[in-house]
Amino acid sequence: LVADELKPGSCIRMGCLLIGSQQKRQQAKRVPSRQFPLNMDTQSHNNDSSEAQESSVVGISRSGEKTIPSDDADSDINREMNVAVLTPEETSILVILRMMSDESIRLEDLISMIRNAEKNILLLNQARIHALKELDKILSEKEALQAEINNLEMKLAETDARIKVAAQEKINVELLERQLEKLKNEMSLRNSVKEGKHGILDCESPLMLELNDLRKENELLNDDIQTLKLKLADISETEEHVSLLGKEQSALKASFRELQYQFANAQDDVSKLDSLQCECKALSIKVENLQELFDNARQKLDNPPLDLQQYHELQKKVDKLEASMTETNMSKFPSEKFHNYDEILQQKIDILEKRLQESDLEIHSQIEMFQESVREFHHTLTKLKEESEKRSQESSLENIPREFWSRLLLIIDGWLLEKKISPNDAKLLREMIRKKDAQIHDAFLASRSKNEHEKVAMFLKLTYSRKSPGLHIIHIAAEMAPVAKVGGLGDVVSGLGKALQRKGHLVEIILPKYDCMEYDLITDLKALDVVVESYFDGQMFKNKIWNGTIEGLPVYFIEPHHPAKFFWRGKYYGEHDDFKRFSFFSRAALELLYQAGKKPDIIHCHDWQTAFVAPLYWDIYAAKGFNSARICFTCHNFEYQGTAPASELASCGLNVHHLNRPDRMQDNSAHDKVNPVKGAIVFSNIVTTVSPTYAQEVCTIEGGRGLRETLKSSSKKFVGVLNGIDTDAWNPSTDNYIRVQYSADDLQGKAENKDALRKLLKLSSSKVTQPLVACITRLVPQKGVHLIRHAIYRTLELGGQFVLLGSSPVAHIQREFESIANHFQSHSHVRLLLKYDDALSHLIYAASDMFIIPSMFEPCGLTQMIAMRYGSVPIVRKTGGLNDSVFDVDDNTVPVQYRNGFTFITPNEQGLSNAMERAFQYYIRSPESWQQLVQRDMRLDFSWNSSATQYEELYERSVARARAMT
Ligand code: ADP
Repeated sequence: LVADELKPGSCIRMGCLLIGSQQKRQQAKRVPSRQFPLNMDTQSHNNDSSEAQESSVVGISRSGEKTIPSDDADSDINREMNVAVLTPEETSILVILRMMSDESIRLEDLISMIRNAEKNILLLNQARIHALKELDKILSEKEALQAEINNLEMKLAETDARIKVAAQEKINVELLERQLEKLKNEMSLRNSVKEGKHGILDCESPLMLELNDLRKENELLNDDIQTLKLKLADISETEEHVSLLGKEQSALKASFRELQYQFANAQDDVSKLDSLQCECKALSIKVENLQELFDNARQKLDNPPLDLQQYHELQKKVDKLEASMTETNMSKFPSEKFHNYDEILQQKIDILEKRLQESDLEIHSQIEMFQESVREFHHTLTKLKEESEKRSQESSLENIPREFWSRLLLIIDGWLLEKKISPNDAKLLREMIRKKDAQIHDAFLASRSKNEHEKVAMFLKLTYSRKSPGLHIIHIAAEMAPVAKVGGLGDVVSGLGKALQRKGHLVEIILPKYDCMEYDLITDLKALDVVVESYFDGQMFKNKIWNGTIEGLPVYFIEPHHPAKFFWRGKYYGEHDDFKRFSFFSRAALELLYQAGKKPDIIHCHDWQTAFVAPLYWDIYAAKGFNSARICFTCHNFEYQGTAPASELASCGLNVHHLNRPDRMQDNSAHDKVNPVKGAIVFSNIVTTVSPTYAQEVCTIEGGRGLRETLKSSSKKFVGVLNGIDTDAWNPSTDNYIRVQYSADDLQGKAENKDALRKLLKLSSSKVTQPLVACITRLVPQKGVHLIRHAIYRTLELGGQFVLLGSSPVAHIQREFESIANHFQSHSHVRLLLKYDDALSHLIYAASDMFIIPSMFEPCGLTQMIAMRYGSVPIVRKTGGLNDSVFDVDDNTVPVQYRNGFTFITPNEQGLSNAMERAFQYYIRSPESWQQLVQRDMRLDFSWNSSATQYEELYERSVARARAMT
């Protein structure tokens, strides 16, 4: 319609018609009227004035067609307008008047033109409304399509996971089929052999009958063989039993002998004790005597005041006598007599005083004597005690037959000859044997049930404790909590570091100096007045070195002065040049240690980002003499291996030709690529992963992510150590991030945190007991995102509330969860927070009743341990570290005290739903048992203590082995 109206013939009319509406629009946009004169002014000097005037004054005809003819009258108006400043309305009125004055245009024409114009406007408006409606429609269709795309993408992720499981099953089926095929082939081969031997026979023929008989016989024989085999198996089992019993018997005999021997020693001790008791009695009699003496002396010491009193009384009497004598009998007594009397008295007094002094001295000397003898008594007593202890110890070791020490000596010498221990260690151990040291005696007894390898380690530990107070351990890593944390790796570096430090080791950490770190959490951060140059891409680059402490651990930060600004990217990972960034860092970290002249015992690197350290150390630095350390590599997730084109390895100075080999760094599935994780496995002395179950899983085709063979050939040095958590950082009784602190003994605070979180997230608080289910995770396929989504809806169906804290580096997963978050944005029972927020995570752990972890695979997982520490009961899939730390409440094969959560095996919605339903039933039906479960979980020890001890043992064994080689 609009196009119709705009056909060429109507052009002039349109032009006129549009004047008013354009002007109105311009006015509506509040174009300042002052612009008009200016425009007019310019137009008046313009050669093509009419066109310019129309487009600028009335703003029409973008095509450049003249919609208002230009003539002199226009120019007149322009001139008039030039004189006075006019508004757009005034301008259009002038134009209309001008037209009206034109004889060729009549009033009726004008009216009809206006009507036409109005019609046109109406039509245009209708068309516009229509178009807007269409637009709305298109937009809603677009949204629906987007939702469908999201759905499909989710399903794709789901199907991917299912395909993986199916692929595994398919492999099993194929294996079975192959076995079946093989069996079939064998059968047919056997049949054909038989047929070949006998030809095709008539089943009635005597030969055939004979054959049948033979077959039957054969079958019977086979049966017999089977039963015999079973019996044989029984017999060998019994034999095994018997030999086991024999071993047990001999062990019992040995311990019986030992007990006898100890009993004899004890009897000896008892007799010694008797003599000691006699000595003690004698000594106590002496003490009693001394006590008596002391009492006497005391009494004597108490007497002098009596004497003194007498003396004073006498003195008084004498004074009195003297006074009365002088007063009354002066005349009666001759002065000589009086004098004599006085002298006698004085003598008496002197004697008394002398006696007093003497007794005083006597008392003092007696007290001193007494004190001296008491001291002596104590001294002899402690000496006697020490001696008797020493004697009993010595005599027990002395009494050990000489054969024992000789045997020990032979063992040590054997190990030395077999090069299992170094001459130095052998010397130390021999010395201990010569001195009949109790430690070596005890170590020998304790090591009896161990294998040779473990025995050597136990003995070397003895020598080690004599030589060194602790290990010097250096972690080189890409993350460290809480300063630079993306996931569990950060927690491990700081948690393990602190635990090792507490055990008395010297621990240092080297990190890249990222621009996006939490600088507030570093204490005393300062740049050192030193520049460390490190090699990269054929030249040397300067590195600024910073240091500071993080939660009491000394940390070095490397800031490369490389034009690519490797760690100045606003994020930790996910850059196109990650391989370069982290191989640079690995080289610079080793360079720092080398130039600082450090001599660490252990260099511990983590994940592919610092895996380069292992080949760099042995290929470049050990050759330079920096070779005091053993290398430990921990792979926190075999999903990430950092594989890259082989040529990229050269940048950090590694020899591509030398390393891109199947037995070194070459990727197992792409021969033109190198695999840093494989390199670290090959070049490290100790290789660990983060849980025993995951260590087993990665030794399978599916779990190993292509590294199964490499791990198999390194199985002797590969071990799974379950991570711990930092129990200082994750402690509900001291946590400052949560609203109310609480403990297993007082759970009131937990309920208050639940209420606080509900209010914070605007969730319904109407039902205090309504269970709150939480999930805190990176939203990646590994974590079972489709099951997390399912858990949201299932929680609602079961009558609970759900809170998710997580974010995803995968765009389509992030979008999918954004749309779920939007859907529930004002729901009173579900909240999705799609971000990383450490503080909020603490409150969610504290507030929640249950914690969902439906991972497809999980190397270790920390969230289940943190959740339990905060009394949130985990619901997890039995895989990796989850399998090592969560034990089902209904699993009768596990002792009750270890059952701490709900688990499921099959990674599908049904599996998760079952576990959730069981958890909800438990929560609702038995609140008291649930509370006990919560308290039990909170009291479990997930600290780094025992894991750090395992690492300590691995380190020490490796260091001791290295020393044995030298
Ligand atoms: P992964 O290392 O595979 O990410 P872990 O369970 O080993 O998983 O460790 C995850 C750690 O990261 C935990 O400490 C957890 O609390 C934390 N975390 C994960 N996602 C978030 C998030 N969105 N906000 C805060 N902390 C998070």
